[in-house]
Amino acid sequence: MIGLALAIALVAIGYLRVLSTRTARRRFFARLCATCSTSLSAGESYRIEGRVLCAACADRVRRRLERVFWGVLAAAVVLSLFVIIGTWSLWKRGDPTWWMFPLFMIGSLGFLALLTAGALRFMKQENATAELLDRTRLQIELLQPRGLGKPGAGAGGR
Ligand SMILES: [Zn+2]
Repeated sequence: MIGLALAIALVAIGYLRVLSTRTARRRFFARLCATCSTSLSAGESYRIEGRVLCAACADRVRRRLERVFWGVLAAAVVLSLFVIIGTWSLWKRGDPTWWMFPLFMIGSLGFLALLTAGALRFMKQENATAELLDRTRLQIELLQPRGLGKPGAGAGGR
């Protein structure tokens, strides 16, 4: 039951993620902030997590990332203390399985670290895609004035 609920939640999150990325791409090409869709002036756009954002939204995301970082750090400290105290109390009680406790905890932490590494790699890929889009847009803009300018100038000359 819990596994099914988790699977549904993951699919829903993935779907929302794809949708929001699509919206971000559309806004990116329209030179709009990916979050609040205010128009961006040159030199005032910030790329975070594969999105181009205005200064205010970039600030908000940066603060959110900072909070996540401190949250993870606090959780790691609490978990370490929990492992040390748990192992020590088991050992003190003469429980012969005391060594299994830190092993299990380290295993879980390793799994979490792998998940985090996967998420970070995904974010890096998103950034790479955004950069490719940026370059493509720049190339299109560099080509357009020449392509449109010639017929325009010709029409004006006639
Ligand atoms: Zn914004």
